[in-house]
Amino acid sequence: MAEEENQFEEFEQIDFLRDRHIRFFQRTLQILPERYSSLETTRLTIVFFALSGLDVLDALDVIEKNSMIEWIYSHQVLPTDDQSNLSQCGFRGSSHIGIPYSTKGPGVPHPYDSGHVAMTYTGLCSLLILGDDLSRVNKQAILAGLRVLQLEDGSFYAVPEGSENDIRFIYCAASICYMLDDWSGMDIQKAIEYIRSSLSYDSGFGQGAGRESHGGWTYCAIASLCLMGRLEEAFTAKELERIRRWCIMRQQTGFHGRPNKPVDTCYSFWVGATLELLGVFQYTHFEKNRSFILSTQDRLVGGFAKWPDSHPDPLHAYLGICGLALIGEPNLKKVHPALNITQRAFEHLQQLQRTWKDNSHLKDSQWGSDLDSVSENYAP
Ligand SMILES: [Zn+2]
Repeated sequence: MAEEENQFEEFEQIDFLRDRHIRFFQRTLQILPERYSSLETTRLTIVFFALSGLDVLDALDVIEKNSMIEWIYSHQVLPTDDQSNLSQCGFRGSSHIGIPYSTKGPGVPHPYDSGHVAMTYTGLCSLLILGDDLSRVNKQAILAGLRVLQLEDGSFYAVPEGSENDIRFIYCAASICYMLDDWSGMDIQKAIEYIRSSLSYDSGFGQGAGRESHGGWTYCAIASLCLMGRLEEAFTAKELERIRRWCIMRQQTGFHGRPNKPVDTCYSFWVGATLELLGVFQYTHFEKNRSFILSTQDRLVGGFAKWPDSHPDPLHAYLGICGLALIGEPNLKKVHPALNITQRAFEHLQQLQRTWKDNSHLKDSQWGSDLDSVSENYAP
């Protein structure tokens, strides 16, 4: 007992350096070290890590929100006047192919200008985090662009030109449909079949059928089904029990993504959030998890790395903080485990969706009365 108390004290002594993490994410939004230059094409996702990180830290007031919202909208691939690029619509990751800065109006045709499903997901999340009402999001164009990405086997490409296709992009597509409150962007049944086929013999999920189980794929599988509201339908109670067991077994001190691999900060979110969605996260060892995450905290420049004594990066900084939020670290906002945004941003989305529903009812009744008057006027 005394030994347990000592261990607890040891855990408690590691402090969470909130102000340094705020500065880390502020810097991420301004300038990145040269070694990140290869991430240029996915800049929107890096911005999402920083914005959502600041949101979890309850520090969004350091952001100039309006100019950030404009910048995000400038990455929307909009339909051209003749709609010939509808299959390419979504959000692009950055302006690297040289499309001129524009936040509205018809798009400029360019053969290689297309959205990327992960950028569309993180772009929409970022707009929600910043309190935007998504009124300038061309929902129908995004959904049209999404439909083109789904393959016959139910999986998704990231871009219409073709790319890897797997469960990650099903997750992005499911998040987009969920946020836009419109599932016409995907064939849900086919996606569920692909997810089912990715369940491996050891009850984790692989990138596809016959592939090795992995914490990241498992998160994408379970979170997608939760967003679709189809988890219990897709798997039997026994299968779900085995999936829970596979996930629980990933805890060492923190979590690893695969058996016999070292623990890594990001899996405190990927596996932690999966366990939360499966209703058993409370059976994990919170203090060991916290202690590992904090061991990867950079005490000088802020942020978190994947391992202790390694360089921090925006992904691990964000997911480390989310991992801490899941175990109830004080002064952090709660994270929605399936969408990977704060509960606050999620509630903003719910509010928007209620407004959309009210407006569409209004429109329906307006159309109804218009049609009534038309038929009255032409009645014999
Ligand atoms: Zn990692």
